[in-house]
Amino acid sequence: MADEAHDLQTLAFYDREAEAYAGRRLPKASPRLIDFLAALPAGARVLDLGCGGGQDSEVMLAEGFEVTPLDGSAGLARIAQARLGRPVRVQLFEDLEDEASFDGVWANASLLHVPTAGLARVLARVRRALKPGGVFHASYKAGDGGGRDTLGRYFNFPSEAELRAAYGDAGPWAALAIRQGVGHSYEQEERTWLHVAVVRPA
Ligand code: SAM
Repeated sequence: MADEAHDLQTLAFYDREAEAYAGRRLPKASPRLIDFLAALPAGARVLDLGCGGGQDSEVMLAEGFEVTPLDGSAGLARIAQARLGRPVRVQLFEDLEDEASFDGVWANASLLHVPTAGLARVLARVRRALKPGGVFHASYKAGDGGGRDTLGRYFNFPSEAELRAAYGDAGPWAALAIRQGVGHSYEQEERTWLHVAVVRPA
């Protein structure tokens, strides 16, 4: 059972739009994904948390990593499974139960949909899923509090200070770095993004 409500409207959007969303053109591998993989040992176990259509999992598998793709949208998971030729776990972030299982967790533009009140608890679940010394990357659209976009999706829109507080509440980290960047959303709107990299203490 989830310990915090997820946003039903957001997951309904991804199920409804699964084909179009998974079919959008993406760069083969973002510079941030390349940096994340460079910090991992060869063949490391990676959780692609909120894998969407599976594009990043595809890159990681091609690089020889042992990838577990996971998404809460059954529609997107089906498409990712067909792309990857392997099972995709259909699960909510709020239900993650793994313990010390992954060398890395990659959450690209996914935890940004977790309702603000539940973010620290989800981050604690991610921390528990990491092996000691494991690395965790996540990206968020910056802002001054939760709200919906024109497509009806919920975003937590945190400030850097709010993110530091939520990660702090989730438990101790060996390192916490936040970098700002500019990116485009699915609606082609230009926004400031916050890219968070942390390490579970060894
Ligand atoms: N990481 C992919 C990428 O970069 O293309 C997908 C990003 S998409 C903006 C957000 C993803 O998070 C969607 O695939 C959606 O189904 C998933 N998601 C949203 N809320 C979720 C939840 N509570 N549990 C599991 N997955 C969720």
